[in-house]
Amino acid sequence: MARFVLIGSGLAGGLLAAYLGRRGYEVDLYERRAEPREGNIVGGRSINLAISTRGIHALEQIGIADEALRSAIPMPGRMIHDKSGALHFAPYDVDPKKCINSIGRAALNSTVIEAAQRNSNVRVHFNHKCTGVDIDSGLAHLQTANCAVSAQGDAVIGVDGAFSAVRKSMQNAIAEFQYDESYLAHGYKELTIPPGPDGSWRMEKNALHIWPRKSFMMIALPNPDGSFTCTLFWEFEGPRSFATMKTDDDVRQFSEEEFPDAVPLMPTLLDDFRNNPTGSLVTIRCAPWFYRDKLCLVGDAAHAVVPFYGQGMNAAFEDCIVLDECLEEFPENRERAFAKYFRRRKENADALAALAIGNFIEMRDKTASKTFRAKKKLDHALEAALPGIYLPLYTMVTFTRMPYAKAAKRAQIQDALVYGSLLLVAVIFVAAMLWLVASCSHAPVGAFHHVNPLCPTAHSAVVTAPLVDSSNARLSITVGACNCSIAGLTKPLLWPTHTFQ
Ligand code: FAD
Repeated sequence: MARFVLIGSGLAGGLLAAYLGRRGYEVDLYERRAEPREGNIVGGRSINLAISTRGIHALEQIGIADEALRSAIPMPGRMIHDKSGALHFAPYDVDPKKCINSIGRAALNSTVIEAAQRNSNVRVHFNHKCTGVDIDSGLAHLQTANCAVSAQGDAVIGVDGAFSAVRKSMQNAIAEFQYDESYLAHGYKELTIPPGPDGSWRMEKNALHIWPRKSFMMIALPNPDGSFTCTLFWEFEGPRSFATMKTDDDVRQFSEEEFPDAVPLMPTLLDDFRNNPTGSLVTIRCAPWFYRDKLCLVGDAAHAVVPFYGQGMNAAFEDCIVLDECLEEFPENRERAFAKYFRRRKENADALAALAIGNFIEMRDKTASKTFRAKKKLDHALEAALPGIYLPLYTMVTFTRMPYAKAAKRAQIQDALVYGSLLLVAVIFVAAMLWLVASCSHAPVGAFHHVNPLCPTAHSAVVTAPLVDSSNARLSITVGACNCSIAGLTKPLLWPTHTFQ
């Protein structure tokens, strides 16, 4: 069997090693950090994440979903905190059983690595930092604490995250390699709401909390120990930004103003703010994701996205399944397997990147608005009325395994149909109202007889205001049993079909 050298034992690296190990390949997994059970795992990254259908499916396929989800916390909706401290709960789906799940990054990472290590053909080497790969031979160069070593594989897979050394080697060596990285103007900082004195959660446990504040926001996900990890997404620079938080007073004043209900729950706010790093948010697009039968990229190394759809890890886990399927389809031709994997995943990764940026605007800006809540209600009503036919975008992305590109396309078509129909109904309504007014436009003040198909019982009417007057902006008429008030009429209207008594 072929030997794979995997660089990076993060979430996708551990899972991919488990998949490849199960298929019988020889796998050597090299990780720059120390053994996670020695405590060195997260390194400034999000402490918890949301796992949903795609990620869970990938864990199920390797038989570790129950183990991984044992301490996950279901979140069936968003809890919106407005500035006055008022709360609004918005379910993610019409089916209350559909949840995303808050899961600890460190525990999940350990679970996937342990699953890989259950295969005797998988070996994990911590404290090995990859410094580059010879792309033609599949030789990885590694640095340990004391010396430089190398690892020869039949193929090297870069599962080494957004700042991948394997991808960098491809970029340096392949002339036509396409690469694009774009950073948001926003960074993020993690803050903590500790458990209550009895170890309980001090806010609703089963929700993803959001404090949307137009150009920035804070979110909080529950942890099994009763705490919440809050993440503040905010501009790096600007008149009010991370850069202007010079003193503890600045931080206190800003936080009390924007998150008044959260601050009393955050006794370590000032320390957290001072000591926790401010992370950056990057989208990475590159192509191709493979080189001959020698190199391949998986997870963030191939397609880092901003975290606002909660899908980066879910997509990385989906990569593992697809690569495994492609290797199964072409057991004797690794290059074709890599090429097919790339073809199946690239457009979906690009679609997810766009969705993730779009969802940032939705979360920070729109979730607070009544229109947004009305749209969600409409989405859910349509989903309930047209089961299997109408699926809201969030549902398709989060609660199905429909390819991301297909979900995005389908949502566009649905939106065009729904909003097109609503527009049509509105136009018909306005036209009908104008017609109604126009049909009465010659009536003098007083009683008249009128044959009106929209109001067939209304054969007589009493006009209580002059009808035809181009300067008259508001007309009020009583037509039979119907009361009509039409504003904004600026032109006299003529309609030939009415008859006066
Ligand atoms: P990583 O998890 O980054 O793992 C890469 C591994 O490679 C690391 O262990 C690293 O130490 C190692 N490595 C790096 N360079 C080298 C080297 N040179 N040599 C050896 N080893 C190396 N996704 C979700 O699905 N849901 C969420 O809710 C969510 N929330 C997020 C919140 C934030 C704030 C952020 C930043 C991301 C979030 N994501 C979320 C995205 C998710 O974290 C990533 O998509 C996921 O971690 C990708 O997994 P990976 O294995 O590809 O990369």
